[in-house]
Amino acid sequence: MNPADLFGTTFACECGKTHSVPIQAVVYSETAVQQLPAILDRHFAEQRIYPAHSRIALVADERTCAVAGRDCESALKLAGWTVQTLIVPDSPHGSPACDDITRDSLRLRLLPCDGFLAVGSGTVSDLVKWIACDAKLPYAMVATAASMNGYASNNIAPAIRGVKRVINGTVPRAILAVPSMISQAPVELTAAGFGDVLAKPVSMADWKLNQMLFDEYYCPLCAQLIRELEPGYLAHPEAIRAREPEAIAALFQALIYSGVSMTMAGTSFPASGGEHLISHALDMTAMARGLKHDYHGRQVGLGTIFTCALYERIFALESPTFRTVTEPTDTAFWTSLADVVEEEHILKRQKAERAVQELNRPGMWDQVRATLAPTLRKAAEIKQCLRAAGAAHRIEDIGCTREHFLAAALHCHQMRERYTVIDLARAVGIMPKAADEIIEEYLV
Ligand SMILES: [Zn+2]
Ligand SMILES: [Zn+2]
Repeated sequence: MNPADLFGTTFACECGKTHSVPIQAVVYSETAVQQLPAILDRHFAEQRIYPAHSRIALVADERTCAVAGRDCESALKLAGWTVQTLIVPDSPHGSPACDDITRDSLRLRLLPCDGFLAVGSGTVSDLVKWIACDAKLPYAMVATAASMNGYASNNIAPAIRGVKRVINGTVPRAILAVPSMISQAPVELTAAGFGDVLAKPVSMADWKLNQMLFDEYYCPLCAQLIRELEPGYLAHPEAIRAREPEAIAALFQALIYSGVSMTMAGTSFPASGGEHLISHALDMTAMARGLKHDYHGRQVGLGTIFTCALYERIFALESPTFRTVTEPTDTAFWTSLADVVEEEHILKRQKAERAVQELNRPGMWDQVRATLAPTLRKAAEIKQCLRAAGAAHRIEDIGCTREHFLAAALHCHQMRERYTVIDLARAVGIMPKAADEIIEEYLV
C-alpha cells in the first residue's frame, strides 16, 4: 500500500467502515511557503463566495511566528489574501497551552474569516483545529517541527476544566512543511516526535486488546499502515539525533501517517494507549500544581518503555488469575481535578469488571497473549532507540521526580474509561510492585 494514495479518498474497508481521508495535500518541500497561496486557493475554494476577498486567520506562537509565520503572512498578502495574524501567548509555565481558556481568548480576538492557517506544532495546531471545527471552516497547517502525530489526525487533545480530553474534530485540507526548517527545529521537539511515534506498538496492542475483550471496533488496514512505517524510523535512531534529512523526513512521514490512521479509524485508539495516559496524568497534575511539564512526546517515550515492560511481565505469567481491583479516586494525587477524574473513573470501574469476566473465560488469556505478544517491542529496545535518538529515556530527563512518575503510573488508569495494559497489570495483581521495579530497572 502506498499511503500517499489515501489522500483525498473515500473507500469501503474490510473493517466494515467507509474510510475518508479529506486531507488533499501534504507538501514537504523547500518551497512549501511559496506554494501556500496556490494550495489554499485550490483547497479552500468551495468555502468562499468572493475569492478576490479571501480572509484568513493565521495562528502562531511567538517562536513559530518568527520562524515561519511572517513568511506565510507575506506570501498570502502578496497573493491578495487578507490576513489576521493571531499570536497565542505563552502560558505562565512556558509554552502556550491548548485549553478552554486559551481557545476562548483566541475566539474573542478573531475577526470574520474564510478559513484558518496554523503555523506551529502541537498546541497551535490543536487550537486551530478546535476553533476551525467549531466554526465549520477549513484550515491548513504549516508544520514547524516533527514533534507529534496530531497534524493529520482529527483528534484534539485539550485540557478542559483542567482534565486532558480527546475530542473529535476535522482534518486539515493541507499540511505543508519546509524540510530544512523541520530538521533545524529544536532537537528536543524532534526527539519528542520520535517518542510519540515509538509508542505505536503499545497503543496498537491496547487497541487490539479492546477489540478482543469488548468487541471494540478495530481496523486491520490502519494497523498495517502503522506497522509498515516502522522500519523507516526504527532502523537508525542515531540519524534522528544527527538531523540527517532522510531520517527526519521518515519521521515526519511516520507522524503524518499515524495521524492519518487515527483519522481513518475515527478514534485515537491507534495512537494512544496506556503509555499516553501516563503522559496525560503528568501534564494534568503539573498544571493543577502550577508546575511545568515536559513535551508530550518526551513523556510518551518514557510511558512507552514503562508499558512495554509491563506487557513483558504480564505475558510472562502462565496462568494468571484475573481479579477486579477497585479503589477510590485518589484526591491527594489528583488534587483539584479529583471530581472530574471521578466521572471517568466510574466508567473505568465498570469496564475493568467486564474485562475480568472476559479474561476469565476459558482460552481467552492464551488467545490474547498469542495475538498481542508478537506485535510488541521489548522495553530495552525502546529505551535504546530513545537514547540513540537523543530523546528522553530516564525520569530525570523530563524534569520529574521518581515518586511523581510512579504515582502517575499508578493513578493514570483512573482518568479515562479506555482499557489499557495498565488496567491489565492491575487485574493480574502485579501492581504496584511491578511499577516500582520497572522504574528501577529502566527509568532511573
Ligand atoms: Zn478499515
Ligand atoms: Zn501522542
